[in-house]
Amino acid sequence: MSRDVTLPAGWSYVIGLEVHVQLLTRTKAFCGCSTDFGAAPNAHTCPVCLALPGALPVLNREAVELAVRAALAIGATVHETSVFARKNYFYPDLPKGYQISQFDRPLATGGAIDLPDGPRIGITRLHMEEDAGKSVHDKYAGATAIDLNRAGVPLAEIVSEPDLRTPADAGAYLRALKQVLEYTGVSDCSMEEGSLRVDANVSVRREGETGFRTKTEIKNMNSFSGVERAIEAEARRQVALYEAGGAVEPQTMLWDAARGEVRPARAKEGSHDYRYFPEPDLPPLVVTAADRARIAAALPELPAARRARFVREWGVAGRDAEVLCADRLVADYFEAVARAGGNGKAAANWVTGEVLAHLNATGTAIAAYPVTPQRLADLIALAGAGTVSASAGKQVLARMLDSGDAPAAIAEREGLVQVQDDSQLVRWIDEVLAEHPAEAARFLGGERKLQGVLVGFVMKKSKGSADPRKLNQLLGARAGG
Ligand code: ADP
Ligand code: MG
Ligand code: ZN
Repeated sequence: MSRDVTLPAGWSYVIGLEVHVQLLTRTKAFCGCSTDFGAAPNAHTCPVCLALPGALPVLNREAVELAVRAALAIGATVHETSVFARKNYFYPDLPKGYQISQFDRPLATGGAIDLPDGPRIGITRLHMEEDAGKSVHDKYAGATAIDLNRAGVPLAEIVSEPDLRTPADAGAYLRALKQVLEYTGVSDCSMEEGSLRVDANVSVRREGETGFRTKTEIKNMNSFSGVERAIEAEARRQVALYEAGGAVEPQTMLWDAARGEVRPARAKEGSHDYRYFPEPDLPPLVVTAADRARIAAALPELPAARRARFVREWGVAGRDAEVLCADRLVADYFEAVARAGGNGKAAANWVTGEVLAHLNATGTAIAAYPVTPQRLADLIALAGAGTVSASAGKQVLARMLDSGDAPAAIAEREGLVQVQDDSQLVRWIDEVLAEHPAEAARFLGGERKLQGVLVGFVMKKSKGSADPRKLNQLLGARAGG
């Protein structure tokens, strides 16, 4: 898996990411239109989001709550007063001719994302803005159609400091940020539906250089791995330019996933090009200290804290905690299993192993997983007590997927209960020793390494039903006595 993404000797990456996430509101940022995905084109529009004359924007309180929640969750400072501004440009899917955004007075500044076992990445700012519509290019009609359902959908833009130093760290940052936004219910972060979009700013420099060189901005990536690949391709292009004696131009680049290439889209605009000015139709946004305190108090436990707690309280390995906490609902499920059975390590093994394997193989969400945490805890207890072997336990779990029966009942019915009864085990041992006199003599004479062979014979005789742990105890006692 691990590709070599190191740059030619002596060069290093500088990366900063701009992430747009759709805030999970029912209605748009400045009007009452629905934000539901997948409606007929232009079904969710009104005079405000169509920019008809005289229509006035009214800020959606729900969007503000979510943006503040996101800002607090990444440790940013939410400002008492922030200001909406008009960012002016022409685009066919932007009916007003400007986008309402925040410019010199954003909602929040500062904060950080800690990469798991990695560096701390600073957050520059988080501001609110509205989305544009969508241009749909129809190559058969030879025309472009406009769908304004997205126009006015509320977004938060989260800008990182240029603190990222490898494409892999950029991927880790995106995963960590996505987890926080999902945990807090700020966004569903679906890249397929366009509710999370990433622009990557990339420059390169010689190792040891302290300043930054000219950056370019890459757009159009539709997966986190695409972001990593695009950054690498762009950095290599820049290194090649420098090594040939050229210079990097500030440009906006487009990622072409099919070709694995970036190509220039346009010269990079500066903020002055947008003729920002304060939006006259909206008053400054005021978030009081009381609002901030209320929203902070309602934040759920965040992924980093939860990972640390799983390690501390449940004895889960760090790597497993990371896997479990990647999805809040999986973490909830794990914790319910651990609570029901009391054995965190075993619960982590089963959930990261059998349960996630099943979900991945079948494309099922944990919410639809048919085995309740209590039932899985019961199975874990059966396996822990040796009533079923580890491999029989997996068979029992497979049956539990389509039967609501208790694992003990299934194990019984399927003949998967291990024989732990001493008298039966001793009978089998005696038979095996009688059937294999040569091995028996050597074993009883002190050749302990034959124990495994004899256990194998008994397992075969019992058709796999003997409890190997007890067998080993009983045989060991024979040899010792
Ligand atoms: P712009 O005005 O061009 O959008 P900003 O200074 O606002 O530039 O930065 C935008 C993004 O670019 C931020 O994520 C920032 O961390 C990143 N960035 C800034 N300078 C560099 C650089 N030299 N190399 C890589 N990324 C950079
Ligand atoms: Mg930018
Ligand atoms: Zn509308």
